[in-house]
Amino acid sequence: ASTYAKPFNEISGVITEFQNALACAARLFEMIDAEVEVDEGETTIPEVKGEIQFNDVFFSYDKSKKLIEHLNLNVKSGQRVAIVGPTGAGKSTIINLLMRFYDVDAGEILVDGVDIRDLSLEDLRSKFGMVLQETWLKNASVRDNLRMAKPDATDEEIIEAAKATHAHSFIKRMPYGYDTILSSVGGSLSQGQMQLLCITRVMLNIPPMLILDEATSSIDTRTEQKIQSAFNKMMKGRTTFIVAHRLSTIREADVILFVKDGSIVEQGSHVELLQKNGFYAKLYRSQIENC
Ligand code: ADP
Repeated sequence: ASTYAKPFNEISGVITEFQNALACAARLFEMIDAEVEVDEGETTIPEVKGEIQFNDVFFSYDKSKKLIEHLNLNVKSGQRVAIVGPTGAGKSTIINLLMRFYDVDAGEILVDGVDIRDLSLEDLRSKFGMVLQETWLKNASVRDNLRMAKPDATDEEIIEAAKATHAHSFIKRMPYGYDTILSSVGGSLSQGQMQLLCITRVMLNIPPMLILDEATSSIDTRTEQKIQSAFNKMMKGRTTFIVAHRLSTIREADVILFVKDGSIVEQGSHVELLQKNGFYAKLYRSQIENC
């Protein structure tokens, strides 16, 4: 059997072209176009603990150009992993490999001790909730957009999720509230509000593990605080990978991966990496100075 999907960086890449389209995606993998083909296994994990290991992973897109070599990573259940580093360093590639948009050239990636090549792709991908920078909203009512994540969700559940993400107040102010058709309001929603809708959708049915792509585009401070608070609720007890840009997110992560030229050059907590006085400490000091 085989399945197709679109790599993580191409999804995020859309944003660079359309800076206005800040957003997210739930059940994204079922909706996106054919791209990469991988063979899948048949194993499923019924009760996910959320342990993730990369063991001596090698990968490159172009076999004549080395990218990831000897990548080792051991994430414990419920930990937050912030992936940090310059553009082109390989942050998205790590997510691409974990989601099996591409297969490792050597080494292995394990989820709860199972090699992801032995897992059914649907099982693997359904275990991860993704909030990306691309908005994934249909030309349908707010309610139907939110319900995509959980088709049998009741109206009460939808409202509860929207309250948890602080989206309820602006949805109520829309012309027909939860019945407002999104195409008809189009431009009147801010980027941040569109992202809050997408986060609400994930909130309705939170998978056991998360991949969050922190926004780089400008969002007003109040909306950003709402997004941050919704992220914090979602992340509780769930193993999370965050492609992180905000210093506070990075500081609070259990593990920071500093990626450079395809390698994790530093790995540890904020305090550990400051003590190390290397790449991360340098980045941190430069950011603090710019504040
Ligand atoms: P980041 O997410 O840190 O910006 P990426 O993981 O997207 O970095 O990219 C790492 C390197 O791999 C870059 O040199 C990039 O140009 C290259 N790359 C990324 N995606 C592809 C692809 N689909 N095909 C070929 N090269 C790619």
